[in-house]
Amino acid sequence: MSNLLPTIGLEVHAQVKSRSKIFCRCAVEFSNKPNINVCPVCMGFPGAMPSLNSEVVKQAVRAGLALNCEINIVSGFARKNYYYPDLPKGYQITQFKKPIAERGYIILSNKKRIRIRRLHIEEDTGKMIHDQDEDTLIDFNRAGVPLIEIVTEPDFESAEEAVDYMTRIREILRYTGVSDANMERGELRGEPNISVRKTSDSPLGTKTEIKNLNSLKAIEKGINFEIDRQSKLVAEGFEVASETMLYNDKKQEVYPMRKKESASEYRYFIEPDLPDLVLKEDFVSSMKGTLGELPEVRRERLIKQYSVSRDESWILTSEKTLADFFERSVANTGAGKRIVNFFIREIPALLNEKNVDAEKLLFTPEDLNSLLREIEREAVNLNSAQTILKRMAQTGESSEKIIRDLNLRQTNDEEKVKQLISETLAENQKEVERYRKGEEKLFGVLVGFCMKKAKGSVSPASINKHLKEMLK
Ligand code: ZN
Ligand code: MN
Repeated sequence: MSNLLPTIGLEVHAQVKSRSKIFCRCAVEFSNKPNINVCPVCMGFPGAMPSLNSEVVKQAVRAGLALNCEINIVSGFARKNYYYPDLPKGYQITQFKKPIAERGYIILSNKKRIRIRRLHIEEDTGKMIHDQDEDTLIDFNRAGVPLIEIVTEPDFESAEEAVDYMTRIREILRYTGVSDANMERGELRGEPNISVRKTSDSPLGTKTEIKNLNSLKAIEKGINFEIDRQSKLVAEGFEVASETMLYNDKKQEVYPMRKKESASEYRYFIEPDLPDLVLKEDFVSSMKGTLGELPEVRRERLIKQYSVSRDESWILTSEKTLADFFERSVANTGAGKRIVNFFIREIPALLNEKNVDAEKLLFTPEDLNSLLREIEREAVNLNSAQTILKRMAQTGESSEKIIRDLNLRQTNDEEKVKQLISETLAENQKEVERYRKGEEKLFGVLVGFCMKKAKGSVSPASINKHLKEMLK
């Protein structure tokens, strides 16, 4: 069976980086102790009054600007009413009619433009924990944690595009510092809505929504499962029901959770305890100056400035911390091909192997910088540099100390090189004779012998140069 054409939209929730919650002064922290960051406001006690955290407004405006949105000078808050145990107030404070930002876009890595319909501020709910001793427990530390919700138009045509979008959003939120956007911690969650139809001319099919996917893999698997399921239904002549679905990570399958609510079922009304949010024009324009260099722009600059390839610039900018580490490591060197290539070959692999962020390495970019300078002026060869780097990552020792301890500095001192070569030739007279009788391919073998004896202390170039002369 071949699948029908999918149409996909995405709602993304991102946790705004902030020390306190959105409407009270409770701390926001990733902690194992449940229910310690709570107060009458975020617990919804009668008479408790919310007061808006200005940091959240600032970050929402910055996110809106980074996502090419128009910022609404006047926006407002509303109550979204529904009952659920993780929602102590019985409603969520969110923005409904007028969000803080709308009509933006993001460019995917395949250059496709995805339209962003709106970006609004809201509070998070508590967290239900189902899998402990068969009881359901609730942790309210997360209730009232600030979120931005970013809603796209239904512009995706595949799970891959949706995954790419999530990756781009995560990148932009991290580059701008709006959110740490750590999906494992639930700081970035995606909710795709999916429908299928026979051809691009047919009207859109009935859509379903998959709740709270918090990994890229879940987004990919969940969407693909749902496209298959809907295609099968339609092929067999059934109708797709308008439902909210749950994704099961172990089975990688999607199940119906409940009939989908329409907006009217939430009985939205204006939040009476909060005034309209009114921004000053110059506040908005001052926020533009705080965005820093966005990933797309940085990729283009790295290509120009360091003559790296497009693929390499994607690798380097995959995390802001890596791109920063790179630029600090090659600073004040000529950033020549040798060292740039060395960095690109070694560092991402090292981070992968240790499963850490560049900031968490045992050595600093300045430490690496001194090693790169040695490579650049051919004082250590690339093999030795690899050894040195490995040791730096293991012990945190300076490259200088390691070079000294392991005696890895190359010499181009003519006397020493010649000395080494003549010793090697004396030890390998058979090969020397054969070479002199015309077996020219033995030259490489002799270079190898010299290199082995030199143990990295002499550059191959200078061995090559002197060996030729000495064999005459
Ligand atoms: Zn609180
Ligand atoms: Mn929401």
